[in-house]
Amino acid sequence: MSFVYLCTQNTQYNMSNRTFTMIKPDAVKAGNIGNILQMINAGGFRIVAMKYLKISTEQAEKFYEVHAARPFFGELTQFMSSGPIVAAILEKDNAVADFRKLIGATNPAQAEEGTIRKRYAASIGENAVHGSDSDENAQIEGAFFFSGLEQF
Ligand code: GDP
Repeated sequence: MSFVYLCTQNTQYNMSNRTFTMIKPDAVKAGNIGNILQMINAGGFRIVAMKYLKISTEQAEKFYEVHAARPFFGELTQFMSSGPIVAAILEKDNAVADFRKLIGATNPAQAEEGTIRKRYAASIGENAVHGSDSDENAQIEGAFFFSGLEQF
């Protein structure tokens, strides 16, 4: 069995147990990386991959291309490229649904108490964290930021 085969298999394996997240520029700027990672760990998620980086507006447009027709697309892509972010792949049983629960509603005003967005998000646009909305998107989004060699 080749090394490449094993790496490829690793990114596919247990796909439904993985999700992708970003700590967005507002939360990084506010000094909340540590607090949010603490909540992610306390929520039972294992970090599979993680990096601290700043994306260009073009990369944000590519990442969010499914939202290209939405009225807030320009605002969203400007915001997401306005400062550094933390990108990570997380692992846990039922990762996508459980992480969406942990982060709370898109609009922090509607997010439940104890969720990341309730605690750290200021508005519907600048809402502290991203969480994939399906297993398929978790796989696509994780692969946007990480090669198989960067996932453990
Ligand atoms: P999510 O899955 O909860 O992140 O929400 P969506 O997939 O609907 O939207 C993606 C991201 O676009 C959100 O997390 C927000 O950062 C942003 N967004 C959504 N709705 C709005 C809006 O009405 N105004 C602005 N400025 N940004 C929005």
